Amino acid sequence: MSTNTEILTFENFCRIAEEFAPCMNDYLYVYDLVSDTYYITKRAVERFRLPGNTFHNVLEAHGKFVYPDDLPMLQLDLSQILSGQKQEHNLEYRWLGADGSPVWINCRGRLILDENQTPILMVGCINEIGNQQKADNVSGLPGESFLREHMKMLIPVFSKGMLLRIGIDDFKTLNERHGMGYGNYILKKVADCIQQSLDALQYAYRIVSDEFIILDVSDRPVEAMNLLYHRIRSAVDNLVKQQHYKALYTISGGIVSLEDINITNYEEIFKLTEFALAEAKNRGKNQVYYFRAEDYEAFLQRRYIRSCLRQAISNDFEGFSLSYQPIIMSNGEHLYAAETLLRYRTPDGKTISPYEFIPILEDSGLIIPVGKWIIKNALDMCAECRKKYPDFKISINLSYIQLLKSPMFDEIMDALNLSSLPPNCLIVELTESGHLEDSPAIQNVWRKLKNVDVSIAVDDFGTGYSNLQNIGNLRPNIVKIDRSFTVKALQNEYEFELLVHIIRMVHSIGLNLVVEGVETKDELIKITALNPDFIQGYFYSKPCPKEEFFEKFQIA
Ligand code: C2E
Ligand code: CA
Ligand code: CA
Repeated sequence: MSTNTEILTFENFCRIAEEFAPCMNDYLYVYDLVSDTYYITKRAVERFRLPGNTFHNVLEAHGKFVYPDDLPMLQLDLSQILSGQKQEHNLEYRWLGADGSPVWINCRGRLILDENQTPILMVGCINEIGNQQKADNVSGLPGESFLREHMKMLIPVFSKGMLLRIGIDDFKTLNERHGMGYGNYILKKVADCIQQSLDALQYAYRIVSDEFIILDVSDRPVEAMNLLYHRIRSAVDNLVKQQHYKALYTISGGIVSLEDINITNYEEIFKLTEFALAEAKNRGKNQVYYFRAEDYEAFLQRRYIRSCLRQAISNDFEGFSLSYQPIIMSNGEHLYAAETLLRYRTPDGKTISPYEFIPILEDSGLIIPVGKWIIKNALDMCAECRKKYPDFKISINLSYIQLLKSPMFDEIMDALNLSSLPPNCLIVELTESGHLEDSPAIQNVWRKLKNVDVSIAVDDFGTGYSNLQNIGNLRPNIVKIDRSFTVKALQNEYEFELLVHIIRMVHSIGLNLVVEGVETKDELIKITALNPDFIQGYFYSKPCPKEEFFEKFQIA
């Protein structure tokens, strides 16, 4: 409380406050209790939804820019001050930003009394407490708002800056395993490693919990950021060693060069650094990734497709459809089965390849609802086909995510029960990709499916992980030779010999074999000579919608 009213008049305060305003981030105010007038430094009008920087009817006017839930609390506090019950105002609550969003502030004020000890003014300061933590006490580095200011100053005059965003890999796990205290200790130590590694004109900021950005404003080539990353990484490796491997941690880095991207908007640049770091982590962590526009476009495309797919699923699978490709008996050319292949078209009519959208469905877990939809529709189609071809089978592709994340066996059995079809009408295709031997959960579903007489086909044989020994151990019912292998065998004598041996070996342990990707009559003759059990390929038919399939095989 103060009584020095000769110097501190309302007008004086306003003038002095405005002089100070450019030197501070806070907003100074004075509230004249006699004339019920409020003044706040002018800059506040840009930030908050204020009626102006000077206004009357002070309590009522607050109703327009204070977050409604917080208004009663404020009114209570101010009424206690006005009635003399309290001399100091110190309240944390929310104002509305110029865009209407709540902004946390701390408002402090003190009363100025006249010679009769009557309060005549309240002077004080509004200070943002939400987002604007400037420097960070854990790492000792300036925070993101400093980077923002630094870059906003820099961008219009200098377009060559480079940014390296560093993140500690799996920091969350580290925190969980060793406790927050140790987590903070590591953050501080990594921040020290960063600081030690900086060259002239490189500035470090702490961005969010375990992420830092280093801004380089020199003329160095981009290689300098790569070197910087490696210097920091060696320092961190040494740190881990010095701490006797108590905790093992690594760092990833994403580099963005302003010269390359030609973007001047801070938020956009910031987003690209976020992407670059995420990309380094996606590529296996403990490495640096240099931003490339093509990768970013592919990322945006994946994100767009993911949102379309999500939307499609909630719109009753709109845009999804199924194609069926016949699997023909090599001996006698009878229809044996059809493989169900998923198709997807975006709302703007673009067909997306399954090689593109299936991995997105898998990564996002959306394959689970889609998978259920496929089984149901495929079994319906099978039931129709069996009216003409009583032994007809339907084949569906299953992904490992489905086997691991949903009760696949029960779902298949429920779908079969609903369709009243016997389990032996279903073939499940699985790619041999190393998961089978590793996962008891998958082996369990595999065993249960075989026990009830659902056939299992090992898909994509001849690519990636395929291994004849595994086939011997796993005992699927069918082995499907991938088209890429068929193509090679048709072009190359050695691969052809290999195919001959594979077919012999598969037959010798009593399994059936499908050769995929037979496109021409000539290819058919060559492949048929090897005596596979079944053939699938464009020669007989491309995958087609159910109606077309029915027409081809005269199914009513
Ligand atoms: P896949 O399981 O190996 O399916 C066979 C692929 O080979 C299909 O490609 C088919 O159109 C193509 N194909 C068949 N015969 C020929 C031929 O003679 N010549 C040529 N050039 N290609 C032939 P599609 O439909 O593009 O599917 C690609 C992959 O997407 C599938 O490979 C499968 O891995 C995956 N996929 C498709 N539908 C599903 C599904 O419902 N679930 C899961 N998990 N994956 C699916
Ligand atoms: Ca397949
Ligand atoms: Ca295949």
